[in-house]
Amino acid sequence: MVENVLRVSNLKVAYGGIKAVKGIDLEVNKGELITLIGANGAGKTTTLKAITGTLPDCKVEGDIIYNGKSIKGSNSFNLVNDQLAMVPEGRGVFTRMTIQENLMMGAFTRNDKAGINADIEKWFSVFPRLKERAAQLAGTLSGGEQQMLAMARALMSHPKLLLLDEPSMGLSPIMVEKIFEVVRTVSAEGVTILLVEQNAKLALQAANRAYVMDSGLITMSGDAKDMLNDPKVQAAYLGEA
Ligand code: ATP
Repeated sequence: MVENVLRVSNLKVAYGGIKAVKGIDLEVNKGELITLIGANGAGKTTTLKAITGTLPDCKVEGDIIYNGKSIKGSNSFNLVNDQLAMVPEGRGVFTRMTIQENLMMGAFTRNDKAGINADIEKWFSVFPRLKERAAQLAGTLSGGEQQMLAMARALMSHPKLLLLDEPSMGLSPIMVEKIFEVVRTVSAEGVTILLVEQNAKLALQAANRAYVMDSGLITMSGDAKDMLNDPKVQAAYLGEA
């Protein structure tokens, strides 16, 4: 049976007079890797922020149901307890804490010390660069290393739903590959993921289903592989004629 993890219905967000999201519906089912793609300013980040209750003071309408209960207006602290984690655009690591401390912070809802230490070792083996720099302040890391740390920190909370906002932004091609490899692995391990991405090709290759957003509306949705082959998507988002 399909188990609905997240359901957004008729979501509308306005920043003062600017209508950033104009009534969208989207669903994420258990185990799925869903991507939300679209041009700059389409409203993707606003949608994720509405889900996590991290928008500045602005008007939000519609329903946001996570694991069967409304989370509209919840704060992100409560959501971590509900096993919903987000890696924001720009990463948001604690720059004045060490890498090790950032990972420990990611596990603040847990009290299984041995499990936490085992998870830290797991992420150090996935990202050896973080292990080499474990005692270094996170603010001294490169953008790609901070992205690795932000993802590892979010996963330390054992989320049931992971929201990723533009994880490939500003990274070198090798780092983008690495980040996507981790996204695919985490998805294969059973974590449900909603991925906002500018790199539509990589996102569609990795995802099960996709939504395309344009000027605050969902303009297309469906199987990610079908979209990769859709001439309209190719022309508008994949740089192919
Ligand atoms: P990008 O890929 O560039 O991040 P996006 O699809 O994530 O784009 P949003 O960041 O959600 O788009 O922005 C949607 C619209 O809302 C844009 O027109 C943007 O200028 C506007 N907007 C975003 N944040 C604010 C804010 N804090 N105040 C006013 N307008 C905002």
